[in-house]
Amino acid sequence: MPFSEFDLIDTYFSGLTDKRGDVMLGIGDDAAVLQPPEGQELVVTTDTLVSGRHFSPDVDPERLGHKVLAVNLSDLASMGAEPAWATLALTLPQVDEAWLQSFSRGFASLARKHGVQLVGGDTTRGPLSISIQLMGFVPSGEAMRRAGAQAGDLIYVTGTVGDAGLALKGVSSGVHPAAASELQKRLECPTPRVEEGKSLRHHANAAIDISDGLVADLQHICDASGVGAILNYVDIPLSPPLEIYLNEGGDWRLPLSAGDDYELCLTVSPDKADIVERIADDFDCDFTRIGVITPSMGMNILMKDGRTEHGPVPGYDHFADE
Ligand code: ADP
Ligand code: MG
Repeated sequence: MPFSEFDLIDTYFSGLTDKRGDVMLGIGDDAAVLQPPEGQELVVTTDTLVSGRHFSPDVDPERLGHKVLAVNLSDLASMGAEPAWATLALTLPQVDEAWLQSFSRGFASLARKHGVQLVGGDTTRGPLSISIQLMGFVPSGEAMRRAGAQAGDLIYVTGTVGDAGLALKGVSSGVHPAAASELQKRLECPTPRVEEGKSLRHHANAAIDISDGLVADLQHICDASGVGAILNYVDIPLSPPLEIYLNEGGDWRLPLSAGDDYELCLTVSPDKADIVERIADDFDCDFTRIGVITPSMGMNILMKDGRTEHGPVPGYDHFADE
C-alpha cells in the first residue's frame, strides 16, 4: 500500500515532540488550539529554508531538522521570548523515509531542549523547502526590540562571528580538520541563544540576531533607533580558525559581513554593563563588548592600524544578486 500523506504525518510528526499543558488541541484537526499564559504577549516568527538557496540538497537531514528550528528559535531569542509552539510546512519532492526519519530526529531533539511542541503543519509535494512558524511568550511590554538603542549604549555580541561564513567559503590551509568540522557544525547546526536572550531581556535596550552579518544586522538596530555606531575591529570575537584565516591574508570583511552565525547583538546602557557581564558567567558563550552607539547616524569601524572604515559592509541580501 502506498505511503499516504496522512501516514507520513502520523509516522513522523504526530507524536514527535513532548506534550505541553497549554496545547488544547495539537496535530490532527483542522487547526491547533493553544492557550497563551495570562499576562504575556504572544511572539511569532517564521523562517523558510529552500534547497539550493539556504542549504545544499545533500546536507545531513538531521542537521537540517535542527537548523530550520534553530533559525526560528534565534528570532525569538533576540526578542527575549520563551519558545512554546511550532508549526511545520514541509514541501518534499518525494517520500524518502530515511530522510524523514533523520530530519524529524534533528528537529525533535532541539525542540525537546527548548520545550517546543509541534502543534501542526502542512505537507505538500514539490521542490524541497521547509518553513517553520514558531510562537513563544514574553511578559507584556518586555520584548527586546531593534528600536531601543540609545547614544552611549555599549554594543555586545554573543559567541564568535564569521564562523558560518568561513565554513561556506572553505577553510584555510592552517586549520586542523577537527576545527574545520567544528566550523561546518556552526554553519549547519547553529546554537540559538535562547536562554541568553531571556536573561538579557531586562538589561538590553535593543537586540537583533545575526543572520545576515554583524554590520548589516547592527545597521538594522541603528536604522530603527535613529542612531549610529562605532565598532572596534580588534574587539570582534573570533574563533581560532577565523584568526588563522585572517592571519593568512583572508578578507578582513568576513567577520563583519558573513551571515548565518545566529549570535545575538545587543546594545546596553553603560550602567548595566556590569550586570550584563555578570550574566555572561552563567553561559558557555562569551558576551563581548565591541563598540558604542553614537548620536549621529552612520557606521564607523576602527581598524587595528588606526584607519576608519565606513559602513555599509554588505550583508546577505536574497535579492541583491538577481
Ligand atoms: P487540512 O487539509 O485540514 O489543512 P492536513 O491534512 O494538511 O489538514 O493536515 C492534517 C493535520 O496534520 C493537521 O492537524 C495539520 O496541522 C497536521 N500536519 C500536516 N502536515 C504536518 C507536518 N509536516 N508537521 C506537523 N503537522 C502536520
Ligand atoms: Mg482542514
